[in-house]
Amino acid sequence: MTTPRPVATPWKPAQPWPSRLVRLATRALPPGEVRDRYRQEFLAELAGLPGPDQTRHAAGILTHSLALRSAVRGTRAGPMEDAMTAPSKPLLCRTNAHHHWEWASTPDGQRYIRCARCLKEKDSGAGGQWTGGASMGSFGQGGG
Ligand SMILES: [Zn+2]
Repeated sequence: MTTPRPVATPWKPAQPWPSRLVRLATRALPPGEVRDRYRQEFLAELAGLPGPDQTRHAAGILTHSLALRSAVRGTRAGPMEDAMTAPSKPLLCRTNAHHHWEWASTPDGQRYIRCARCLKEKDSGAGGQWTGGASMGSFGQGGG
């Protein structure tokens, strides 16, 4: 009678530093079952790699840990990027308390008044009013 023996694979745990990096990376995840599961999966991945690749792989996991956290939480990635690229509207403009009005002109030479800071257009009270920059492309092709 023979006991079923697993296939003899020399399993070695991941090296200390790469596994530390992975543990650090998974700390960005929400605590609980999800974090534990990712940590175990990453550590298992590490253990399957040759020594030099473990550090590189662990560093990759660490650098993507915030994106992974966003994915796990179901939120959009990169709120910092949004904050850095989106034009920040001044508080006075946001509250509509004060705008810095200036003259500006459309691509076809029509003049209008806009805020220099938030680019809001001042209502002139005339018939044709701007609804924003979205219609800039098709404006002014009337001919004649
Ligand atoms: Zn403004």
